[in-house]
Amino acid sequence: MQVLKKHDILLISDEVVCGFGRLGSKMGAQHYGIKPDLITVAKGLTSAYAPLSGVIVGEKVWDVIDKGSQEYGPMGHGWTYSGHPICAAAALANLDILERENLTQNAADVGAYLQQQLHAAFDAHPLVGEVRGAGMLAALEFMADKEGRKPFDAALKVGPKVSAAALERGVIARAMPHGDILGFAPPLVTTRAEVNEIVGIVKQAVDAVANQVVGSAVTS
Ligand SMILES: *Cc1c(COP(=O)(O)O)cnc(C)c1O
Repeated sequence: MQVLKKHDILLISDEVVCGFGRLGSKMGAQHYGIKPDLITVAKGLTSAYAPLSGVIVGEKVWDVIDKGSQEYGPMGHGWTYSGHPICAAAALANLDILERENLTQNAADVGAYLQQQLHAAFDAHPLVGEVRGAGMLAALEFMADKEGRKPFDAALKVGPKVSAAALERGVIARAMPHGDILGFAPPLVTTRAEVNEIVGIVKQAVDAVANQVVGSAVTS
């Protein structure tokens, strides 16, 4: 923050995923104690029940737009379908539900449990190089050499294989495109029992792929 301030560099917090409760805090910027100038929002804003995205503009940037508009006329900034009332209503209804059902708090509580259970199941697993995440956002990164942090040959498609094995068993977890990384973003309403089910199924999937890739029985 100090370096940005010194050089007058704006900070944009991309909260398309982290905003609106996902990390167990209202916004990701709050979670990490940072003060962005602009915040981009989308997915969590409507929980994807309707398409809506937006940019939250801080005073510093807003002042420039405001002054410029007075001097040069309004800034042309719109799209045919921007600010659609149906999507805005869906967002307001979604944010009401988040508050009423205390879902950010659930994401904090059950999210901490999810992280703990993932660490318990996978920290020592031979296929897993790293377990990481915050709240209801988590990832497993698969590595050929755990200690040396060496990745698998991309041609082995370890991440996509684990994703497919999990899907076969009833869990949707995304194989991220930039490495053998399996990403989790369970609903904010997820319960501890469901976390147990998710982690249990993913454990089976990772073991199955480990047997296939490493070629030796993994029983951990
Ligand atoms: C999905 C996603 C985006 C892309 O958002 P679009 O509205 O599809 O452009 C950007 N940032 C993050 C963190 C995302 O998860």
